[in-house]
Amino acid sequence: MNQATNLSSPCACGGLMEVQQDFRHLDADALKMRFEQRLADRMSVYASGVWRYQELIAPWIEEEFIVTKLEGNTPLYTANDRLQSYAGVERLQFKAQNHNPSGSFKDNGMTIAVSHGISMGYRHFACASTGNTSSSLAMYASWAGANSHVFVPSHAVSMNKVIQTLAYGSNVYTFDGTYDDGIRYLEQEADALGYYVCNSVNPLRIEGQKSIIFEMAHQLQWHMPDWILVPGGALSNATALGKGLFDLFNVGLINRLPRIAVIQAEGASPFHQYVQRQHAGTTSKEFEPVPSPSTIASALNIGNPPSWRKAYRYLTQLQGVTAAVSDEEIMQAKKIIDASGLGCEPASAVTMAGLRQLIDQQVIDRSEHVVCILTGHLLKDTDAIAQSHTSTLRKLDDLYQHRAAISS
Ligand SMILES: *Cc1c(COP(=O)(O)O)cnc(C)c1O
Repeated sequence: MNQATNLSSPCACGGLMEVQQDFRHLDADALKMRFEQRLADRMSVYASGVWRYQELIAPWIEEEFIVTKLEGNTPLYTANDRLQSYAGVERLQFKAQNHNPSGSFKDNGMTIAVSHGISMGYRHFACASTGNTSSSLAMYASWAGANSHVFVPSHAVSMNKVIQTLAYGSNVYTFDGTYDDGIRYLEQEADALGYYVCNSVNPLRIEGQKSIIFEMAHQLQWHMPDWILVPGGALSNATALGKGLFDLFNVGLINRLPRIAVIQAEGASPFHQYVQRQHAGTTSKEFEPVPSPSTIASALNIGNPPSWRKAYRYLTQLQGVTAAVSDEEIMQAKKIIDASGLGCEPASAVTMAGLRQLIDQQVIDRSEHVVCILTGHLLKDTDAIAQSHTSTLRKLDDLYQHRAAISS
């Protein structure tokens, strides 16, 4: 890897940079024992649910440069009765990445990207983002005593996420344009400004996000479920899931690969449409971006996902499937997830909405073991639920009247 350059620049081949690591020297049993021993460690960097698996992520980063908030360490919840009956499968679990310190799975990748930047001497970090990426970057940069610069389009962003980013002390710049314009600006200017770019095209974010599947495997004592469902926006998480699974398999930590399902929001589903076209007898099999994506799940509102090639490669290798769900299906699933006491942001609820579809289509069988990855916290993206819930606020007077009516 060329350490002098910004890793987020496109590769000369036109695709994205990717980290290639040789794990042949690793011994599965020795690794399992080491990971297990680290669970007793509550204070060092290995108490992080990401750095615990450092050998498989970024072994070259020295401890003195590590910037960690002990991210990861997220629960793998077994569905309660309500969730189970809504989804329609017997063995259903949720990997709650929304329990991360900044409230989304972006922390799993960001701790690695920022630590790497710090180890190379960078003091200024940047991203173009519509939300959770900027909150996460702002948190880690400030935690490291460094600076962050975030470029957000002046419309179509979730206010909660911008506020969180500002509160963490980031420099937030708005501009008239799209998320893609922000990325292009950074590509052109980052080196001159001395910024280390931490968008999802930074391959170290993918390396860090592999920890989601490492920790899940560890929690399941290295036995994989039949299916893992993940939301798809920029498709960095789907890519990390695939890459992490093959790392586990190739090192010998698991001996069976699960199938994966990538669920998109209907209004921003170029990947799902692409996969459908590969199976159908249509003339055009090209990848076609969606020019004006539109979904209530703001974290998935991406028309031209940068990681689609890599995600497609893993999808085929893992006999994966895709689905697209409507905003109505998303909000229905979210309502059940929230009211069952679990809770998530709209972009996460696509997994359970997609699960119902895939069961209806008999792609997933009711007897199979399914894990849904929940990506963001209930208190993110609240614009989507504020309206429906504030109208159900009750007045204390009404309760007194109710009591008076009962006792009279
Ligand atoms: C970023 C994000 C996604 C989408 O992940 P990609 O890697 O862009 O596909 C889904 N949910 C939440 C909450 C996110 O923040």
